[in-house]
Amino acid sequence: MIAITVTLGSKGSVQLTQLDSPRPKPNEVLLRIKKLGIDGTDRDINAGFYGAPPDGEEFLVCGHEALGIIDSVGSNVKGFAQGDLVVPTVRRSCPENCVNCRNGESDMCLTGHYYEHGIYKLHGFASELAVTDADYLVKIPCELADVAVLLEPTSIVEKALNQIYQIQSRMIWEPKIALMLGAGPIGQLGTLILRLRGLEVFTVAQRPEDDPKAQLVSASGAKYVNAKETSLDSLGRSFDIIVEGTGNATVAVDAMHHLATNGALCFLGVYDPEQLTIHAGDLFREMVLRNKLIFGSVNANKSYFELGLKDFQLIKQKFGDILTRLFTSVLKPQDYEKAFEPDPSEIKTVIDFS
Ligand code: BGC
Ligand code: ZN
Repeated sequence: MIAITVTLGSKGSVQLTQLDSPRPKPNEVLLRIKKLGIDGTDRDINAGFYGAPPDGEEFLVCGHEALGIIDSVGSNVKGFAQGDLVVPTVRRSCPENCVNCRNGESDMCLTGHYYEHGIYKLHGFASELAVTDADYLVKIPCELADVAVLLEPTSIVEKALNQIYQIQSRMIWEPKIALMLGAGPIGQLGTLILRLRGLEVFTVAQRPEDDPKAQLVSASGAKYVNAKETSLDSLGRSFDIIVEGTGNATVAVDAMHHLATNGALCFLGVYDPEQLTIHAGDLFREMVLRNKLIFGSVNANKSYFELGLKDFQLIKQKFGDILTRLFTSVLKPQDYEKAFEPDPSEIKTVIDFS
């Protein structure tokens, strides 16, 4: 079978190779991959900034955003059968099986020894066939097959927003206005879900107003802000909810200054550890005197994928086929080099393995 792989420790090593087809263990399914989404993490891994191959191997099969169809099931698998359309979650339990991993919350793993398909010590889904543990599969109804490859990035947003609402149940809280930083897949999905929840939404990026990213933001009734022309200060607003999806530490720090009293800010980027130093006193003082919540969130467990499916239905009802407009390019596996090149006008690049 063909697979897209990267090699340990070398920059820009992404390549298309032939590998033996994997065989499912008793608890696993064999997936025939239909679609694979590419994101910034995949590109960071190819750039050598992040990720690791499985122990004892030199290469990693890329890809963690996938839609597949079950080809066969291991002898212990229950509840799934050949032909089922599924999206696998990304993270698998740590060997110690910590209390979170043991209870379906590997996204909250305590030891840090978790595995992540296509990212950390576990092969990904950028191949014609792939194996994964059946306990981490989400079944996809036929009517959502066209957008299901967006479910993994959606799960990240669902987790962030769900946690915001859960933590904020610490008080009477009626959020009305939200700020979404970034207009890539996370930014677009965040904008749509915040609009579904009835909030006034401002979405910020650096593209001009006639760019597809900006137009997509406006199509859901959110307000697009081109950060190159309009500063956040000049908006004169403060926000009950802020979701930071640019991955830029400078943007993340600036966001803290625009949080309303009792507001909540969630960081979603994998920030460069050396990017920035800050004067924290003013920020901490503001956090305390205004009950501000600032927290980070990574990965998502199956429950957030399921929330994402519910929201896909609602988005279809309310905004028609808007989700399909996120697919700015659909490529063949042979075009893997193009798929791994960063492109500022791209929203979601998909590789079609079917
Ligand atoms: C993935 C997450 C993963 C994170 C850190 C993201 O791109 O969507 O599932 O946990 O990278 O590895
Ligand atoms: Zn764990």
